Amino acid sequence: MDCIFCKIADGTIPGDIVFENDKVLAFRDLNAQAPDHILIIPRKHIPTMNDFTSEDVVIFGEMGQAAKEIANTLGVSEQGYRIVVNCNDDGGQTVHHTHMHFLAGRQMTWPPG
Ligand code: 5GP
Ligand code: ZN
Repeated sequence: MDCIFCKIADGTIPGDIVFENDKVLAFRDLNAQAPDHILIIPRKHIPTMNDFTSEDVVIFGEMGQAAKEIANTLGVSEQGYRIVVNCNDDGGQTVHHTHMHFLAGRQMTWPPG
């Protein structure tokens, strides 16, 4: 499958990996929007948030757990961080292997752009 995140997950192309287990993988975004900008992805190719099935509930939970562990590892749990999932065009999704953006290391603004 011609999916850049599947290729990072299977090691075909390199990623700056910060966390992994059997269900999820997390690596640094190439075009960081914050001092720490990490993408948390399911190993399973799930194109968008719309494609999560009831069987995938556990995977989404694992992604949330990974975010918490990454925050601990980076030492940003107390300062805080932001989790974002973009879906399709209006959400600004450009890579159709769904992912959580983990952003930390600066004050975030609201509303997001
Ligand atoms: P989206 O716009 O789909 O929510 O987010 C896609 C993210 O993937 C963008 O922030 C973009 O910088 C990042 N990205 C795109 N291609 C690559 C890549 O090959 N490696 C890494 N590490 N990040 C990528
Ligand atoms: Zn994929």
